[in-house]
Amino acid sequence: EPQYFYWHSRRKGGAVIDVDVSLKAIKLANRTILLATLLDITDRRRAELELRRAEQDISEQREQLAHVSRLSTMGEMAAGFAHEVNQPLTAINTYTQGLIRMMSNDNISCDDLKPILIKVSQQALRAGEIIRHLRDFVYKRDAGHEIVDCNQLVSDVVKLAEVEARQYDRQITVSLADSLPKLLVDPVQIKQVILNIVKNGLEAMEGAVAGLGVTVSTALDDIGEVRIYVEDCGPGFSEGDLLEIFNPFYTTKTNGMGMGLSISQSIIIAHGGDLIAENKELNGEIAGARFIIALPRAETDCQDYNSERVAVN
Ligand code: ADP
Repeated sequence: EPQYFYWHSRRKGGAVIDVDVSLKAIKLANRTILLATLLDITDRRRAELELRRAEQDISEQREQLAHVSRLSTMGEMAAGFAHEVNQPLTAINTYTQGLIRMMSNDNISCDDLKPILIKVSQQALRAGEIIRHLRDFVYKRDAGHEIVDCNQLVSDVVKLAEVEARQYDRQITVSLADSLPKLLVDPVQIKQVILNIVKNGLEAMEGAVAGLGVTVSTALDDIGEVRIYVEDCGPGFSEGDLLEIFNPFYTTKTNGMGMGLSISQSIIIAHGGDLIAENKELNGEIAGARFIIALPRAETDCQDYNSERVAVN
């Protein structure tokens, strides 16, 4: 039988080389001879190894950059978070002060205390929830892909973005499509992209008519990709903006870094998707900006999982 294998050989001078070996028996004038082909693939293997290492480096650098960018976004939102956590803490304090007062009354029963303690617990959970979302973004961890529900991702990140929206006195409206296929993504990175775009939308709407807000919606497109739309009612883009916004360090803000969209685009492309920016039009006029995040669905065999998130990495 023909045989193919791979081994290390040593040259006369001692250098180790990678060799592809193929052995084949062939009949030649009533004789069977063994044909052995040895192919030195050292250069090819080295090139493949270097390519793999370079890809790994790029991926690690992307993750580090994304992490630094998440930290910077969280820093920008710190005042909002402090306010947001302070509210349940103040409520807990008020309830417990009330409890202490009630307990000095001898006739107090457990039934009287229970509803107040339930409220204390709810407020503590609310503070914990905010901190949990925050921690997701701040912790440095290995980028891991998971099977996730796109609508769940959007709902999670909107909770964070609402902290920012309240600072701007704006609303975020969410419209989620039914029965979307699952995604195989790094959830924290995708949330980071959505948060960044929503935050930009809120900033762009400074000075816009009161009552207008940002809309986040999900849909399935006709090629089976999942799409997340983020639309605002700000000034939209000039032609120049549309050519530049994804370039690193392009910013029109006095305190901007111009890295958010560039990092967002590289995250989406690394997931095999696409990030598109366009103007939203109404009666032929620009009525705001629209970002479309398109992501490929997870392979069909992954969709059978019923659990909400299954780690596959
Ligand atoms: P930064 O927010 O630090 O400026 P980004 O990369 O997030 O960096 O954004 C780059 C630029 O793209 C912004 O400075 C702004 O000019 C433009 N931009 C982003 N989002 C919007 C939007 N929703 N409406 C109008 N312009 C936007």
